[in-house]
Amino acid sequence: MARALKVTGRGRNRKLGDGVATTYRPVGDTCPQDCKMLEKGCYAKRGFVGIHQIASNDTNHSLDNAKDARFIRHHVSGDVFINDRLDVEYVQMLVDWHAANPFTTGWMYTHRIQAWVDAGFTSAVIPSNLEVIASVDTENERLYALEHGFKYARIEVDADKPLASNEVLCPFDKKKDKGSYTDDIKVTCRNCQLCFADKHTGRDIVFMFQKASKKQVVVDLTIGKVKGKVA
Ligand code: SF4
Repeated sequence: MARALKVTGRGRNRKLGDGVATTYRPVGDTCPQDCKMLEKGCYAKRGFVGIHQIASNDTNHSLDNAKDARFIRHHVSGDVFINDRLDVEYVQMLVDWHAANPFTTGWMYTHRIQAWVDAGFTSAVIPSNLEVIASVDTENERLYALEHGFKYARIEVDADKPLASNEVLCPFDKKKDKGSYTDDIKVTCRNCQLCFADKHTGRDIVFMFQKASKKQVVVDLTIGKVKGKVA
């Protein structure tokens, strides 16, 4: 598989905020194969994100497309794996690019943070302008991220469950969970910055589980056509 990377230099994503660059990678090939969401409604297969992630299959953009951006959200779709192993060459490229471009702050969520550490990509060697956030599904993963100096993010299904003292609910999700419509929410990642402004020592992020909208559709990864409505 080629690098498969689509880069939008100046995004207009409603949640991220104007001018935040984005990257997309294919869902499936770049994901850990044990991801529970892979065949069960992964959000990145829906709507506009789904269209971009399909396009990323046949795209091999350089991150230099985002060189002038102040912020870049890596991997709106996909992750950093290939054949179920960490794509060391790709991760090294990310690290080197951010080290060479201190003006641009990037952030990303990735599964299996232990694979990063095992390959030598510890929190100590990742440049301060690249926030690598461990997506954790289990208590062991959560503790591993904390012990190794990585910020973590997790999904919560119970809106009434108290958060740990080190955790904060994404303010965008908080408003959405209270019934606000996306277009009415004024919070953007660009003005919030909780995920990436307080390098490693900051608060860990909790997202509310969001059900797919009935209007959203799943886009088939292999053939790029609308597959069906999400219940
Ligand atoms: S916590 Fe802030 S920066 Fe992180 S995803 Fe939510 S709005 Fe964006």
